[in-house]
Amino acid sequence: MQLYEQQKLKVHNSLTGKKELFTSLNSGHIGMYVCGPTVYSNVHLGNCRTFMSFDMIFRYFKHLGYKVRYVRNITDAGHLVDDAEDGEDKIAKKARLEQLEPMEVVQRYTVDFHNILEKFNFLPPSIEPTATGHIIEQIEIIKVIIEKGYAYEINGSVYFDVVKFNETNDYGQLSGRKLEDMIANTRELTAQNDKRSPQDFALWKKAEPQHIMRWPSPWGDGFPGWHLECTAMSTKYLGETFDIHGGGMDLKFPHHECEIAQAEASNGKSPVQYWLHTNMLTLNGKKMAKSTGNSILPDEIFSGNNEVLSKAFSPPMVRFFMMQAHYTSILDISNVALLASEKGFNKLMEAINTLDGLSTAKETKFNVLTWKQSCYDAMNDDFNTPILIAKLFDAVKHINLIKEGKEFINVSDKALLKETIHNFVFEVLGLENKKSSAADTEKLNGTVALLIQLRKAARENKDFATSDSIRDQLVALGIQLKDGKEGTSFSIS
Ligand code: AMP
Ligand code: ZN
Repeated sequence: MQLYEQQKLKVHNSLTGKKELFTSLNSGHIGMYVCGPTVYSNVHLGNCRTFMSFDMIFRYFKHLGYKVRYVRNITDAGHLVDDAEDGEDKIAKKARLEQLEPMEVVQRYTVDFHNILEKFNFLPPSIEPTATGHIIEQIEIIKVIIEKGYAYEINGSVYFDVVKFNETNDYGQLSGRKLEDMIANTRELTAQNDKRSPQDFALWKKAEPQHIMRWPSPWGDGFPGWHLECTAMSTKYLGETFDIHGGGMDLKFPHHECEIAQAEASNGKSPVQYWLHTNMLTLNGKKMAKSTGNSILPDEIFSGNNEVLSKAFSPPMVRFFMMQAHYTSILDISNVALLASEKGFNKLMEAINTLDGLSTAKETKFNVLTWKQSCYDAMNDDFNTPILIAKLFDAVKHINLIKEGKEFINVSDKALLKETIHNFVFEVLGLENKKSSAADTEKLNGTVALLIQLRKAARENKDFATSDSIRDQLVALGIQLKDGKEGTSFSIS
């Protein structure tokens, strides 16, 4: 029996606004699509928070035994400055300013993105497709939408007819907006735009002569609209209907609303079972964003090289900080909050380091099985990582009491405690205990065992000066020896 058959997971579905019991479309399999970065600049910590939340969700699904196909795209064309309908492509603009080929810009920031994600210990997605690699698929979808009567071509551009779509479907179902209100709140259209209605959005844009990123199409040279790539790539790799679609809350409208419209217009099906949206990372109470300069870059936090930081913070520690907030809550980053979080992180890692050395008894003072289920209950409640971390600290308390001899644990419970902590801390939360990797721990255990042997030999030779010196020097290093009937054991504080 797989874990997912025992654990009842609930997820907050942004489409219904409710927490719902999760069931995958195909038993044992999950298709998950997450909007990836627009690679025109370095990712900031806000972007990282969103991708990290989905990395944790991906990890938990895998832990539960699902086979997950996780698609996270790279937006390398079509995303216009300010998410606008008219204007310059973000990548083309950067290429112009820095006198680079657009694909040089794409390469530079895709490499940066991957480097940062590796530092944060992300699992790679199953597929990482690019918008420019799927131009043909996007053109095919436009043809279908035109054929079905939900899009029109004008002067080499193709627009989605939102008014027509809304007659039979619900444009605004995800973001909770009403088309009438949107129209009432829009100022008169200026002549520069060919759209029938201001709410219509571009599926294909005609490329002006100076536009460098262009592809041939049935409507002339141009480039795809931003929303279309995600419809094309999610359908191609996950099918017309799939389980999970994720992204930051700021993508709900218009990006995800338009994705739903494109899919429903082309095949009549609602594309996604569960829409998951992450909340924003803020700095000084404002959304972290590169465009406003209100941002911290990952390398700045790893080196401490940013004026809001008093010191450097390691990637796993930053990851721990992020996981201390629920993914649907706003999280404000500050030096004070990071310092507090670091204390907790160190305490957790220290407790994990002492686990192996804990001596065992015949019985256990606390119910490890109940505690283990409480960790699952936290994650099953819409991936509630702050509650999970609180549960992990319950275990830390017990570990420390056992170490001090005030509580006790039997052999099998100790093994269960260790396995559960490792599963949640390293596998699910994706944290790393840099100070003591598994290989280092093995070396340390071997070295101390050797010193215990030398001390024993010294004592047998009545060389108490040497045996005491070994013991005292180990104590100075935080390693305590305990002599018992079965020999000498040790613990590390
Ligand atoms: P972009 O590269 O701008 O398309 O953004 C990539 C992802 O980062 C999207 O899912 C955004 O919603 C998300 N994002 C952008 N800013 C923040 C922020 N301050 N906090 C959390 N997520 C963010
Ligand atoms: Zn997208």
